[in-house]
Amino acid sequence: MAGTFRSPALLAILSKTFPLERLYVGRHMSSTAAGVFDVLNPATGKLITSLPEDSQDQVAQKFAQAQAGQREWKKGPLQERQEALRTFNKLLLSRTDSLAATLTSEMGKPLSQARNEIRATPLRIQYLIDNAPQVLERQDVFGSAGAKVRECLTYEPLGVVANISAWNYPYFTSANVFAAALVTGNSVLYKPSEHTTLTGLAIGELLHEAGVPEDAFVTVTGRGSTGAAVASLPGLGGVFFTGSNPTGAKIAAAAAPNMVKVQLELGGKDPVYVRPDVDVRKAAEAIADGAFYNNGQSCCSVERIYVHASIHDEFVDAFAATVEAFKMDDPTADGTYLGPVTRQPHVAFLKAQVEDALTKGATPVVLGSHTDFTSRRGYFFPPVVLKNVDHTMSLMREETFGPVIGIQSVSGDDEAVSLMNDTKYGLTAGVYTKDGDAAERILAELNVGSGYWNCCDRVSPRLPWSGRKSSGVGSTLGLDGLRSFVRPKALHLQAA
Ligand code: NAD
Repeated sequence: MAGTFRSPALLAILSKTFPLERLYVGRHMSSTAAGVFDVLNPATGKLITSLPEDSQDQVAQKFAQAQAGQREWKKGPLQERQEALRTFNKLLLSRTDSLAATLTSEMGKPLSQARNEIRATPLRIQYLIDNAPQVLERQDVFGSAGAKVRECLTYEPLGVVANISAWNYPYFTSANVFAAALVTGNSVLYKPSEHTTLTGLAIGELLHEAGVPEDAFVTVTGRGSTGAAVASLPGLGGVFFTGSNPTGAKIAAAAAPNMVKVQLELGGKDPVYVRPDVDVRKAAEAIADGAFYNNGQSCCSVERIYVHASIHDEFVDAFAATVEAFKMDDPTADGTYLGPVTRQPHVAFLKAQVEDALTKGATPVVLGSHTDFTSRRGYFFPPVVLKNVDHTMSLMREETFGPVIGIQSVSGDDEAVSLMNDTKYGLTAGVYTKDGDAAERILAELNVGSGYWNCCDRVSPRLPWSGRKSSGVGSTLGLDGLRSFVRPKALHLQAA
């Protein structure tokens, strides 16, 4: 198909018979050469491969291809689109190990966590498949009996949907968009993150193998400039973006002159409050997992912890014991819970955030030995837990997106609610307590898209996923999320 990658090198990369380790040698195209970008292994700092970067013209050509593809794709029966996505799910499950190896090599998450993500993706897609019929259903909703004009409502796909995606959960964040878009009859112009492009290309190949036409799902590759070329295309049905707040603002600005719908899933500074009535060890273990799973690189990772003063010291001890037991190592090694962070420049950001907090009076509780990892070329940042933190520190205000967390003592519910709401973000928040009424009362006061009682760092396909304030605009998942990919057409029908 014209416009999609068909270079021998890429076919070789994506070929199921091409062993991943061969990608580590013999591909040393210069990062300064025009039109390519490097894919690095964050655990070693070594080059995996270099990939072509789409220019503005190539993006425009691929967009035209996706426009033509959408005209055909939307005409086909819904069952055909559902079936293709069901087949995609089966392929994900049958190829989990090799897909996980690719994801771990370019993004650095432990293999076990890569497998978990891939195995859970079909659950999301299945929800979207099952519920597409009801959001596409024609409704004869208005008009009284005997009225001359019959009033109906139909729902139509948006057209070509741009899916500009993040790297931290590339299967989840992409599927939230492309599966909902495809099943409702849109075509997709997909721009995976430059940090997980091999995974993005693999997703495209699997969708095509599953029966999605090549011009209904078109992948573009590149860094921010390629994403900017996508976001500024006139005639898009929508731009669906998952990524950082500053990039989200640029995308909204780029799409605005074209009057293109923009949906943004952005960062968070997600708080958890621990009330005095909890099982302290159990709560500490659950919250530590919510803070450090995926190396803290989740939009809904726990980023701030507020603990009632009466159990603060006990909680800090239990939390520290849990974190100290997390094994940081090569992400392909058995038992590794923490691998490297994905982006090399982020190591300096994390260091600066810890130093800022220490300078302003924070006390280290866990301060992993960084010397253990300096001999490695990878981007390892041992976990850090700080107490005696406050909101003058960047650690309690700016998204950390890494294995660093602060624990602050609070006097009670009122102070906790006030501090939890003291943020520009509004993605998730959690309360740990045995008192369900108190939890619901507190959650009702928090300006967030998702509230958790005795759980955290959780997304459900059945519920809309949305951020408030600087955490985003619009929803994916749930029925609301599916509806984001269709638009109503009001029909006023009168027989002659
Ligand atoms: P990022 O903003 O750096 O990049 C995201 C994507 O945007 C990439 O594909 C990138 O190439 C592209 N891009 C960069 N500049 C662009 C531009 N000017 N125009 C168009 N596209 C451009 O974000 P990231 O580092 O990939 O992801 C991490 C962020 O994503 C964190 O803040 C995290 O909280 C957030 N995130 C949010 C959710 C959510 O559901 N709310 C989920 C996952 C990640």
